[in-house]
Amino acid sequence: MHSQSEASFADARAVARALQPDDPVILNRPHAARRAAKFFVESFPGKVLYAVKANPAPDLIEVLWDAGVTHYDVASIAEVRLVRALLPEAVLCFMHPIKTRGAIREAYHQHGVKTFSLDSAEELEKIVDACRDPETGEPARDLRLCVRIRVSSEYSELSLASKFGCDLLEAPGLLQQSRQHCDWLGVCFHVGSQAMSPFAYVQALDRTRAAIAEASVVIDMIDVGGGFPSIYPGMEPPPLEDYFQIIHQHFYALPVAYNAELWCEPGRALCAEYSSMIVRVERRRSDELYINDGAYGALYDAAHVGWRFPVRALEDDLRDASEDFAFYGPTCDDADYMAGPFPLPGDIQAGDYIEIGMLGAYGAAMKTGFNGFGEAEVVTVTDEPMMSLFDGSRVRPEADNVVSLR
Ligand SMILES: *Cc1c(COP(=O)(O)O)cnc(C)c1O
Repeated sequence: MHSQSEASFADARAVARALQPDDPVILNRPHAARRAAKFFVESFPGKVLYAVKANPAPDLIEVLWDAGVTHYDVASIAEVRLVRALLPEAVLCFMHPIKTRGAIREAYHQHGVKTFSLDSAEELEKIVDACRDPETGEPARDLRLCVRIRVSSEYSELSLASKFGCDLLEAPGLLQQSRQHCDWLGVCFHVGSQAMSPFAYVQALDRTRAAIAEASVVIDMIDVGGGFPSIYPGMEPPPLEDYFQIIHQHFYALPVAYNAELWCEPGRALCAEYSSMIVRVERRRSDELYINDGAYGALYDAAHVGWRFPVRALEDDLRDASEDFAFYGPTCDDADYMAGPFPLPGDIQAGDYIEIGMLGAYGAAMKTGFNGFGEAEVVTVTDEPMMSLFDGSRVRPEADNVVSLR
């Protein structure tokens, strides 16, 4: 669907001027993804896995690998194959709690995947069975299992609380059962995406503590999942250092093996700054702009959860003060609507180009071909992302604004 060109440009203006594109253009910033990955690898007090679903672009995965991300959270057999083909040495962890037997079998026997998550006894049985030696029927001896527990999403913009994870009544039994099938047992959870407070992790780690204490089994790894925030208009999170510090502190208070590992699985925080997109206004109707990408394209979250992405006009001849606009996407239904508000010059009109920022996570990855739209050229740009948590521009809050660490 995307055609990758080798071209590199200074910024979105240069792209719009050179290409005058009829279709949207995805602008990638490898330097921004590299910077985010380096920050996580150097500052998170444990291992950093990249959650591939946030953006599976091969170029991005290679940038993250070069920046020191060696472990990848994959959730489908297609993601297993993709990352294995790109990175023969990477450690792949199959962290979807409901997998098919065929996917588990292929991942284990053909792609060297040892780490699997689960949240039910049925899934445990599936994993153990699918990883048997096909000739002898012997069970695998090198499985690394990870029990997913359900935690609250109350601090997050997008909930992941209802679908997966066993509850506190089931967790001890499942931990004990899983322990019988592996020498390395972990607990994982996901606090929901774009967690706006570090306390999300405190709550989840408290639940983890309760489950482990009740099960009284040896735990070798705690995986605090994803949920680390990026920055968007109206959503400025506390510094990531506060999240890391509070997680570190609460991890050390858990009743786990003395050499237990701490993992995290960021998706959004590693790649949100990687991409932006150029769109063109095809028609203006009062304060509504009809643009050539939308709810079935990279603006899924703008349409479905009212996310406000940063925008800027790319024309030099717009003079009017900024006004608030809503967007319609290119398909034929009313649902292809992004309420915003998106502030743009009041004299913007059909034919003008706009850059929409912070689409590296769950943006570029969401594009479909619905209704014949979805084509996009992909180019590299070298300027700064429209917003950043990693460019050094955010000063640390004063001491009395920092969340208190209990
Ligand atoms: C989606 C997902 C992630 C990444 O979440 P972000 O909010 O993008 O950081 C991590 N782990 C699992 C199991 C996921 O499903």
